[in-house]
Amino acid sequence: MSDTFPIPPHGGTLIDLLATGDAAANLAAEAANLPKLVINERELSDLEMLAVGALSPLTGFQGEDDYHGVLESMHLTNGLPWAIPVVLGLSAEDQHRVGGADSIALCPSEGADPVAVLRVTGQFKRDKPKEALAVYRTDELDHPGVKAMYDSGDLCVAGTLEVIALPGHDDFVSYRLTPAQTRAVFKERGWRTVVGFQTRNPIHRAHEYIQKCALEIVDGLLVHPLMGATKADDVRPDVRMRCYEALFSGYYPRDRAMISVFPAAMRYAGPREAIWHAIARKNYGCTHFIVGRDHAGVGTYYGTYDAQKIFEEFEPEELGIQPLNFEHSFWCHKCEGMGSPKTCPHEAEDRVSLSGTKVREMLSNGERPPLEFSRPEVADILIAAMQA
Ligand SMILES: [Zn+2]
Repeated sequence: MSDTFPIPPHGGTLIDLLATGDAAANLAAEAANLPKLVINERELSDLEMLAVGALSPLTGFQGEDDYHGVLESMHLTNGLPWAIPVVLGLSAEDQHRVGGADSIALCPSEGADPVAVLRVTGQFKRDKPKEALAVYRTDELDHPGVKAMYDSGDLCVAGTLEVIALPGHDDFVSYRLTPAQTRAVFKERGWRTVVGFQTRNPIHRAHEYIQKCALEIVDGLLVHPLMGATKADDVRPDVRMRCYEALFSGYYPRDRAMISVFPAAMRYAGPREAIWHAIARKNYGCTHFIVGRDHAGVGTYYGTYDAQKIFEEFEPEELGIQPLNFEHSFWCHKCEGMGSPKTCPHEAEDRVSLSGTKVREMLSNGERPPLEFSRPEVADILIAAMQA
């Protein structure tokens, strides 16, 4: 097994909750006769992450003690760092239906076959105002993560999971590597150090530069786009994937860089989500993790460097994975290259810098942003998608 190469998973053991062979068939047969609970898209993402060990050491949806421990001190009751609760919401109506069952079958939609059995260890009241302020630093419903949390049940049901089948996907199938699989690739390629890059956006020159700066000091790069639920106004997953593929075919070294899908849903929890993202990437085998400005942020809820500073609240050895902090970067005409405020001494007018709004406006007009900002191959994909 390559489970501890190149870095041990969080807590030391890579969790695998997926039943196979006869065990899976027996579990499916049992699930058919259990009370059913339909879970939402975000919970299904969490279930998939739990099943494959992306959230090691978690073996199911968290109980009340861990829930409050995470909110209050960013640690599990076993002492390991953990920044965002992973819980299963239960509405009053659901609670009435599943009642005090010891085992519940979880279904991705009404009438669908169960994907997992939850061995229930408890139920508790979700403290939504406390969770909002602790995780999101706001309780405004304009915040998409806060909104999603308030939209889910007022109770939580905790327990360990036995998974019958991973949620079915008909997109990016060849890119859906589990943590055990990315680790196996790293081992096969001999990458002793690997940097992970989280993204929910198309990659323009600035992020390409940051990734390549990081790659200069490690053996391999994992571009790990989040493909679970995002905000409605984020770029569609299929369009983003075409952009990544275009970049990889033209500009990335195949033996040093790879793309794989991160099946998580986006929380937009900024600093806390940066920690959560880093720990998950450690489980995928990354030794280093890129933290940019306003990582996982939305609107103006978080300070520019909050997601970098929060790593200082942990001992480096308790996180294990090494954060690599980056400034925003740009093309500078005087430097005649990419740089950042750390490396370029020139003025704003020498730098190619465009707001997100300006870029969207150009693309929707069928206009490529300057090639110093965006590779033409990427720009053309985005233009085509906006005009479709
Ligand atoms: Zn410069």
